[in-house]
Amino acid sequence: MPNSTNQFIRPVTCTVNNQGNLEVGGCDLVELAQKYGTPLYVVDEATLRSVCMDYKCAFSSYEKVNMMYASKALCSMATSAVIASEGFGFDVVSAGEIYTVYKAGADMSKVLFNGNNKSVDELLLALELGVGRISVDNFFELSLLNELAKSKNKTVDILLRITPGIECHTHEYIQTGHLDSKFGFDLTQIDEAVEYIQDSNLKLHGLHAHIGSQIFETKVYEDEIDILIRELARLDEKYSLKLDEINIGGGLGVKYTDSDLPPSTYEIADVILKGLNKAIEKYGVDAPTIFLEPGRSIISTAGVTLYTLGSSKQVPNGRKYFAVDGGMADNARPSMYQAQYTAVIANKPEEKASQTVTIAGRFCESGDILIKDISLPEPEEGDVLCVFNTGAYNYSMASNYNRVEKPAMVLVNNSQSDIIVKRESLDDLISHDVIPDRLKTNV
Ligand SMILES: *Cc1c(COP(=O)(O)O)cnc(C)c1O
Repeated sequence: MPNSTNQFIRPVTCTVNNQGNLEVGGCDLVELAQKYGTPLYVVDEATLRSVCMDYKCAFSSYEKVNMMYASKALCSMATSAVIASEGFGFDVVSAGEIYTVYKAGADMSKVLFNGNNKSVDELLLALELGVGRISVDNFFELSLLNELAKSKNKTVDILLRITPGIECHTHEYIQTGHLDSKFGFDLTQIDEAVEYIQDSNLKLHGLHAHIGSQIFETKVYEDEIDILIRELARLDEKYSLKLDEINIGGGLGVKYTDSDLPPSTYEIADVILKGLNKAIEKYGVDAPTIFLEPGRSIISTAGVTLYTLGSSKQVPNGRKYFAVDGGMADNARPSMYQAQYTAVIANKPEEKASQTVTIAGRFCESGDILIKDISLPEPEEGDVLCVFNTGAYNYSMASNYNRVEKPAMVLVNNSQSDIIVKRESLDDLISHDVIPDRLKTNV
């Protein structure tokens, strides 16, 4: 089966140019660092579109597929506009994500609102902006949403988020489908939910599950589909309820380091479609529409982060540390999940590695280590470090820890670079601060 973009560490356009520098999207990364400053998030449009194409090709043999991008991996107006232009809808989890994709021009009928504690204001915004599906997570939300739908004299289209009870081998914090999870209805609670929905202002279309993230085994999808289709058949038999949608979530993994071997979108599609056909036959149901909502595998490989190397420290008889001008506030994953990354020095990408160093962040936590024990050619102060595969869950989890401005983001394509998220300024940092009048005399 062909490879797909999520199986590569580097963006598809990544090469070494005539200057001997690394380039992405036809843009010299050292020049980008000079022009826009560092840390800098860089998103390669060609890689992003190539992943979207992989997914579309991989599922092209099945007519009823709704591709959605899970916005939480990276949500900005420009990236949303690119993804929407590929025909994708969006899985969103907050008013902020709903508003961002709306302002980016997304087709709101292709948006699904998901989350385990949506607020009244967020649900109202979803109804007002015409979000296509709401994935209801629990009984509290079921009655809340029904009240809102009644007050607006509307029928609201929903899925039920369920917990299929599947364990997948990934980090505990990013597993979501096992039984003791904070997300979704337990399988034994589905009937009660369905009975509630029967005389409500909610229209149930199908079931939704999501089993985890950074998944490398394909078998879990087959198991998940079997459970979803089994439930569809059971509900039809018990309530004569014809549900024709299943949402199988996201989760496909990416390649952060050489030892990560994620399956391709083609392998995943093969397993999903075979599993689907098998389950359709086994339970005798009509072929449903399937929703997919990958996040990480859509955006991760398209993103790299540029940093400038600063101070260094040799621990006597120990490690050599090099510090960069960013760290856990722009990429929380290493300190949160012990996540590993691959990096090269963008101004000497072809020099032989000569030593092992540890890349430390600049933030006031000992755990703020970006990459432990990486082999690099002689690092020097001022070098530009390019960390690969930072598109997902970096910017979207960024903070202002230590009161540091969040980095800028540029979109590169065909040798052109455009700012898509401005770097925060010092005034941005204090723009929400208020000093009460009674304190002002002291200033
Ligand atoms: C996080 C999440 C996704 C996306 O997961 P990835 O691993 O980024 O593909 C999809 N659906 C739901 C419900 C999620 O919570």
